[in-house]
Amino acid sequence: MKTIGLLGGMSWESTASYYKALNEGVKRALGGLHSAKICLYSVDFDEIEKLQHQGRWDETAEILATAAKAVEAGGADFLLICTNTMHKVATEIEAALSIPLLHIADATAEQLLQDNRRKVGLLGTRFTMEQDFYKGRLTQKYGIDVIVPDNDQQTRVHDVIYSELCLGQVNETSRQQYLEIIADLHSQGAEAIILGCTEIALLVKQSDTQIPLYDTTAIHATKAVETALA
Ligand code: GLU
Repeated sequence: MKTIGLLGGMSWESTASYYKALNEGVKRALGGLHSAKICLYSVDFDEIEKLQHQGRWDETAEILATAAKAVEAGGADFLLICTNTMHKVATEIEAALSIPLLHIADATAEQLLQDNRRKVGLLGTRFTMEQDFYKGRLTQKYGIDVIVPDNDQQTRVHDVIYSELCLGQVNETSRQQYLEIIADLHSQGAEAIILGCTEIALLVKQSDTQIPLYDTTAIHATKAVETALA
């Protein structure tokens, strides 16, 4: 079994989901007392979040590249960045490493194409919904059409992530608002919705809606287990 490297803490609430999913995946595959071999570096999210909102992405890249090198030195065979948003600096992180990076958008796109979903809605932080590093990869590399919520809805989705989910708060009103936004994207032609932020599955579950949801945390973790056991 290969050792899975994790760059976590963004937020730790979702890194805990990764940790559980990876161990459950290995246990499901191998049985008994088997568990995942993991090397985790968990950053202080306060520092990262401040730099994100000030647009100081170069500095986040430096912090994360240094952390990723420590994960590699700790014995990881490949790396997962446990957040969609920080894939904005995936190229810089990858350049610092000699082990491969398992990109969250690639894992998600492969799953979407396998299920023949060509037009999808995307929920995530404003950075992920607005900028091209994520949407662009889905469209240019995989031919997947991506639609995002309108400006007010994006603000709501973004604020819930940082002011509630990353603090471990799950709020019923926010869940209903997310479900309305999901329904809205579906009515605009989205065949499925990407939960493109690693905390969203803490709020919205497939059992809450008939519209197919693609939880990037679960998809990324499943891909990591397959890679580790290949
Ligand atoms: N975990 C989130 C994501 O998947 C948001 C936190 C962050 O900004 O990294 O995008």
